Amino acid sequence: MDPFRGVFTQQEAIPDEAIAAAVDVMRSGRLHRYNTLGDELSPASELERNFAAYQGSRYCLACASGGYAMSIALRAAGVQPGDHVLTNSFTLAPVPGAIASVGARPVFVEITENLVLDLADLEAKISETDAKVLLLSSMRGHLCDMDALVSILEDNGILLLEDCAHTMGAKWKDRLSGNFGLAGCFSTQTYKHLNSGEGGLLTSNDPEFMARATMLSGSYMLYDRHGAVPASETFEDIRLETANMSGRMDNLRAAVLLPQLAALEDSIRRWNERYDLIARQLSGLGAIQLPHRPPEERYVGSSIQFRLPSVTPDQARAFLAANKNLGVELKWFGDDNPVGFTSNHHSWKYVDPQKLPVTDQILAGLFDMRIPLSFTLEDCAHISRIIRNTVEELSLSGAA
Ligand SMILES: *Cc1c(COP(=O)(O)O)cnc(C)c1O
Repeated sequence: MDPFRGVFTQQEAIPDEAIAAAVDVMRSGRLHRYNTLGDELSPASELERNFAAYQGSRYCLACASGGYAMSIALRAAGVQPGDHVLTNSFTLAPVPGAIASVGARPVFVEITENLVLDLADLEAKISETDAKVLLLSSMRGHLCDMDALVSILEDNGILLLEDCAHTMGAKWKDRLSGNFGLAGCFSTQTYKHLNSGEGGLLTSNDPEFMARATMLSGSYMLYDRHGAVPASETFEDIRLETANMSGRMDNLRAAVLLPQLAALEDSIRRWNERYDLIARQLSGLGAIQLPHRPPEERYVGSSIQFRLPSVTPDQARAFLAANKNLGVELKWFGDDNPVGFTSNHHSWKYVDPQKLPVTDQILAGLFDMRIPLSFTLEDCAHISRIIRNTVEELSLSGAA
């Protein structure tokens, strides 16, 4: 078998138009978002306006990172130190980190085999705790039944904040991820759907929430220069009562993002061509279980996950090594020792320890692979052949 030579961490180049816009910002010297001439709209404000339009939300705030967007969202939603905040047991470290950053305490909710929030366990955790907020993390782009979720949250008076780091552009029945609750939190870190190295976007339709978040992000008294903010009256008291927790986006990153946002729908189409090809090639193997993707979900296939349900830790390590030997970089969420970007709730020692037997069992057999747009469809077919081959060679096919 020919080894694959592509690089799994290699995203596409920044488009020429974005590079030219970034050079213009640098030539101007006006990199700070409030450094504007006359009534010019800064790139940061233009990004807010355009992202709000894409998302169909009234307001948008550009900020320093996705994790930062979540932490100010929690604060602006009124979460206090010591409060419990519900969140997914399968997520990335910045999510419990954002909850910890406001002094609150994560309560993890189990996931299902389809890698989404387990709504029965959510109801159990709602009744067992005094949590008033769910920070829903649609980890790796998997959306739970959003209609059922919203109805449970409404019945119990729980606020919804969405972590959309992997669901920018994803939809449940034509409604964009991020539009189901009080706010949506997005990341423009290199490995997400828009790439400015680091960056975050927060959206909402709630004027007071957004005024608080804008002040928190470090807007000084210059909030009326933003691209998609509530009217000045909303800020009248909030501006004096809200701390400045400096975490703005700068014009350079915004300039790099604007052309990418205009091309987002095309990127989604290309991600899904790649995802669907790999999913098709892997789905024929008995040993491999792909999460079911319900017809209500318009996903963005920027990564793929699959399970080898009864794999032992030794088999999982052998499987990773055999793929790596042939150039295919998989991640495994079942390792006791967190590596790279994969840590799990056992490694977050600052959080109260919690028993999550279902999640643990799922993670023990869960593999994950990035699908950068720098890969061609032929690359994706090659990768699929390698994975199929290693499953067969290690005789994992019998496992069920
Ligand atoms: C990347 C990521 C974040 C946070 O994004 P940053 O911009 O890196 O802070 C949040 N949630 C998930 C699931 C992520 O993958």
